[in-house]
Amino acid sequence: MLSKRLEKIAKYLVKPIKFADIGSDHAYLPCYVCLQDATAIAIAGEINQGPYLRAIETVTTNQLENRIHVRKGNGLEVVNEGEVSQITIAGMGGKLIKNILEEGKSKLTGVKRLILQPNLDADIVRKWLYQHRYALIAEEIIEEDGYIYEILVAEQVHFTPRITEKELMFGPFLLNENNSIFQEKWWRERDKKEILLNEMRKATHTPNEKIQQFTKEIRLIEEVVDDGTTVKAIIQLFEKWVPKDYAESWDNVGLQVGDLEQSVQNLLITLDVTDEIVEEAIEHQVQLIIAHHPLLFKGLKQIDVNDSKGRIIQKLLKNNISVYAAHTNLDMVNGGGK
Ligand code: SAM
Repeated sequence: MLSKRLEKIAKYLVKPIKFADIGSDHAYLPCYVCLQDATAIAIAGEINQGPYLRAIETVTTNQLENRIHVRKGNGLEVVNEGEVSQITIAGMGGKLIKNILEEGKSKLTGVKRLILQPNLDADIVRKWLYQHRYALIAEEIIEEDGYIYEILVAEQVHFTPRITEKELMFGPFLLNENNSIFQEKWWRERDKKEILLNEMRKATHTPNEKIQQFTKEIRLIEEVVDDGTTVKAIIQLFEKWVPKDYAESWDNVGLQVGDLEQSVQNLLITLDVTDEIVEEAIEHQVQLIIAHHPLLFKGLKQIDVNDSKGRIIQKLLKNNISVYAAHTNLDMVNGGGK
């Protein structure tokens, strides 16, 4: 039985089908397509001897030798110019797919449609497509056996198509649909990046540019897969239980540092906002700290990063952590301090 992934790829081939499947281990995809469609013709390209022999075997077993040509070679060198109108390349890294396209671009003149399934680095593939007059017409994201796959379908255009940095990273169609598999994929990516980021922070020679890049990417992912919870939404809920105007007149409660629009996945509750607490918040990817004792109490005249409070504020802002204080107002409510 063909995998769901290859079945989806097959669905994007348009009739009359004359296509090349590059990296065609077993030639499962060409055989499936040619068995479904009696007029389909295919080339199965393989660089390695084992998969090449396996492809010949599947084609022979299915008696498709007349319509599927198994050829051994690197990337698009197995295709003659004008021989096919569609190409599939699946189950490889994005960098390898990009290299195959780049090295074989002279063979692409008559290739109207590319159906590509990078296992990772889909952004690299998207970038190549948009630089070479291919525009995405569809994208799919599927989950099979615990793995998540992206399928990119692009067509040749006669102008240089436009795409934003965000669309390159997430995929314009996938971003727009933002379905649960997409969310799952990007939560996983975010967690991977967080682990790497923490390791980088611990390194003796911290590569600052890399840290900044990862932090930016994590922020972008959080924006895109935002589950709708923000500092503002949490505060609104909290203040239904602990209204700010229950506080003594001399007190300073409410949002002290941060951004009401910041999305929140993790929050931390503490008595005081100390340097150790901020470090803990950073380590656990906290976006909101709710503190009993206000961080900013008396009128603040200056933020000097050389004193402890200044340093705390600097760290909070740098790591996009908001601080909210509920003090004497919390003492007043049922279940609060007193
Ligand atoms: N396309 C099939 C799929 O998606 O199930 C097989 C994927 S398999 C993981 C990748 C295949 O690509 C391997 O059989 C490998 O030998 C082949 N391959 C890797 N680099 C290649 C290249 N430059 N040209 C042709 N085939 C290549």
